[in-house]
Amino acid sequence: MKRVVTGGDVFVDGAARRLDLILEGESIAGVVTPGSGPSDAEQIDATGLVAIPGGVDVHVHTREPGYTHKEDLVTLSRAAAAGGYTTIFGMPNLDPPTMTGADLDAVLALYDEKCIVDYNHNPAAKLIEEIPGLAERGIAAYKIYMVVDTGRTYPHPAAIGVHDHGELLRAMEAVAKTGLRLMVHPHDQAIMDVVEQEYWANGDRSPAAYGKTLATGDGIIWDSATATLLRLAEATGCKLHIVHAQTIRQIEMFKQARARGVDVTAETNHWALFLGRMSDIEEQGSYVLSYYVPDHHREAVWGAMADGTINMLSSDHAPHTREEKEVGWTDAWAAHTGTPGIQEQLPLMINAMHEGRITLDRLVDLVSTAPARVFGLTTKGTLAPGNDADVTLLDLNKEWTITNAGVESKIGWTPYDGRTVKGAVLRTIVRGTDVYADGQVVGKPGHGRHAKVGGRS
Ligand SMILES: [Zn+2]
Repeated sequence: MKRVVTGGDVFVDGAARRLDLILEGESIAGVVTPGSGPSDAEQIDATGLVAIPGGVDVHVHTREPGYTHKEDLVTLSRAAAAGGYTTIFGMPNLDPPTMTGADLDAVLALYDEKCIVDYNHNPAAKLIEEIPGLAERGIAAYKIYMVVDTGRTYPHPAAIGVHDHGELLRAMEAVAKTGLRLMVHPHDQAIMDVVEQEYWANGDRSPAAYGKTLATGDGIIWDSATATLLRLAEATGCKLHIVHAQTIRQIEMFKQARARGVDVTAETNHWALFLGRMSDIEEQGSYVLSYYVPDHHREAVWGAMADGTINMLSSDHAPHTREEKEVGWTDAWAAHTGTPGIQEQLPLMINAMHEGRITLDRLVDLVSTAPARVFGLTTKGTLAPGNDADVTLLDLNKEWTITNAGVESKIGWTPYDGRTVKGAVLRTIVRGTDVYADGQVVGKPGHGRHAKVGGRS
C-alpha cells in the first residue's frame, strides 16, 4: 500500500519544510518535493499541517496485568494514539510485578494481543539473577524505583523498590554487563521517611504537605539520590536514565557527570511543567500527583529541555480512579500517586511552543527523536527513508479545550479538563496504518508490535 502525505510540511533535518512524505507498506519510502510522489498512491491531505515522527513515550504505566480497573492495554494505547504517540514503553509496577523472564513473557504476550501502537516493556532490575535473561527478550531498558510507598501499597510496592545502595551497586553491575540502560526513579527514601514524620506528627497529611515533603530542602530527596546514582554509574559503567528530572542541582549534576564520561540521560514529565505549582496542588489535590516543583526549578527544567541537558519528555502516564484520588484530600499519603497525560502532553507542549518556551526542533527531539535514539530504536524517531512509517500530523494552530469527555483512558478524567490549548494531533500513523484520524481512534488491538533495540518492529 502506497500513501503520500501531501500539501503540508514535513519535519526533517531539524525543521518543518514544504515536502511530501511517501509511505510504502510499513516504511517511509521517501521525502520528496511537493507533487512529485507516485500518482497511484492514496493521498493524505496535510494542508496546513506538519508531519513529525511519531512520539516515543518511554515511561508509561499501562496497569495491565493487575490493575485493569484503572487502565488496560487497549484503553492505554487508544490514549497514546490520540495523543500522537506511536511507541510506548510500559513499566514493571504491575501485578505480578515484572521481575522474571516468565513475568516479562506474559506481559509481552498481552501487548501483542491488545496494543494498538508499538511497544516495549521495562522489567524491574530487582532480581540480580534474572537480569541477564531479561536482556535476551528484546527489552530496551530496565527500571528501578528507589521509592517505596509508606501510606499506601501502590504504585510503589516494597516488593519492587531498591534503595539500599549495596543492592543498587549489584543491580547496576549486572545491567552494565547487558549494555542496556537502567531507568531509575531517584528518591532518597531515608530523608523522605524523616521529613514526612514531621508533617504526620502535626496531623498534616494534606496534598500540600505531601508536595512540600517531596520538595524539602530545595530538592534534596531528588538530588541526594541522583548524586548516588551518578557515582554508581561512573563506578560500574552502567548507562543511566533518570526519570522525573526537576531540580536545578540535578541539571548541574547531569552536565558534570557527562563531562566525566558518565552515560546519563534524563527525562522530565508533563506534570512537572504544567501541574507542579503549589496552586495546582491546592486546587486539584492528589489529582495532579502532587509533586511540588517550585518555580525556580521549573524554569531551570525548561532551560535544560531547550539546551538538551534534559534529553526527553515522557508522559509518566499514570491513571488512577477518582476514588483512589479523592482520599487524598484528607490523606495525600493514601492516594495513589501519578497522573494521566499521554493524550494531552503533545498539545500542551505545542501550546508552550507558542508561548516561546520551546522550539519545534527541540519539541520533536524531546518527544520522538531522542527517546528513539537513546533507547536504540534505530527505525523510529525520524522521518528518514527506510524507517518505520510512524507519523503524527499536527495542526500547530488549532485552538481547542481539553475535556474529560474526550479522554480515551479508562479512568475518564484528566487534570487538564477545561484547559484551552493551541495545538492538536489530527492523525497518528503506526507503520503505515492510521491508528487515529478525524477525531477517532481507528487502530485495532493487536496492530502494535514489539519495538526491539536495533531491529525492526
Ligand atoms: Zn512513573
